[in-house]
Amino acid sequence: MIYLDHAAATPVSKKALKAMEPYFSDDFFNPSAAYLPAKKVAADYENAKNVIAHAIGAKGTDIVITAGATEANNLAFSFLDKGSVLYLETEHDSVRKVAESYGGQPIGVDKNGRILIDDLKAKMTDDVMLVSVALCNNEIGTIQPLSEIAAYLREVKMDRLARGVKRPVYLHSDASQAMNLLNVNIARLGVDLLTINSAKVYGPKGVGALYVSRDVKLSPVTLGGGQEKGLRSGTENVPGVIGFSVAVNEAYEHLNGNRKKYAELKRILLSELEGYELVNKKHTLDNFVVICYNGIDAERLIFLLEDKGVYVSTGAACAASKGVKSHVLKAIGLSDSEIAGSLRLTLGETNTKEQIHEAARLINEAANIERRRNG
Ligand code: PLP
Repeated sequence: MIYLDHAAATPVSKKALKAMEPYFSDDFFNPSAAYLPAKKVAADYENAKNVIAHAIGAKGTDIVITAGATEANNLAFSFLDKGSVLYLETEHDSVRKVAESYGGQPIGVDKNGRILIDDLKAKMTDDVMLVSVALCNNEIGTIQPLSEIAAYLREVKMDRLARGVKRPVYLHSDASQAMNLLNVNIARLGVDLLTINSAKVYGPKGVGALYVSRDVKLSPVTLGGGQEKGLRSGTENVPGVIGFSVAVNEAYEHLNGNRKKYAELKRILLSELEGYELVNKKHTLDNFVVICYNGIDAERLIFLLEDKGVYVSTGAACAASKGVKSHVLKAIGLSDSEIAGSLRLTLGETNTKEQIHEAARLINEAANIERRRNG
């Protein structure tokens, strides 16, 4: 198997899996229980939360553990009034659909998928309380200039203050795809709310976290026993959080090595693949390679490649499974036929140079089969 879909899912690292194991069996206790073994589990849970929070430059008490990035994104919007959010038009559906439900307005992107700051400025009104821009896009890997956006929002705040406008404006970012290649730091990014995702950093699925600055007053997504400061009631997912904390540390240990490795693998892919257009040319994570074969149906390529044991995708796993055209590729100006011919290859820790040479050969072969079929 050659797996080139790490943006959809990453395998749980051996170290994370091992660290999780005791919390399914010997240390199964509910952290809210009053007896000693449960208190030890509660302490381990808090320690793991601290580790996750420290990785982004926050304190354990500043993050809310959620059941994944989707829930963290939903929670991030929970303080809003109708019509008070601006979001990037290329956001993952877990931001886009929530923003739409709050009557949000999309901000446009350029051909590289980078935010059009002028469009953000044009759409900024005194009603806006939240701007949501993912640090890295999940379909094309575009890295956004978040600190520039944060600097602009500081100007907006000063201007509101000077005019006696009391409404706050905050910056949220979904950093789900970022932590394998970037050192994600809340102060450097200038964010008030930040979503992170265990499932994309070789931790377990169904675990995520939302960093919440002290100024932001969120509303709970679930009501119940009052866990996670009352914002996300429900018995804590202790093994999941332990696994996430180990995976986050490993991701940071591997950061420099990963960058070098993926840059090299990407170089090999781009030099050995034939007859394609590169879609994500600039400002992109090195593990994202998005290519387009104009006139070829990428869905057919995927099936041909699957037969050879190569797993790739056409874009976001959730959109691909519903046969929906990518709103991201549309936003960066690709035509319908270019979208239909686009493949997303996302590299990860499982990949070797040998695999990449072989994948390039098999992708070329599959593209040639399709070209011949089209006559
Ligand atoms: N945000 C981004 C950028 C993602 O890539 C994903 C996962 O594909 C999500 C949110 C949703 O994550 P989850 O399915 O773990 O809730």
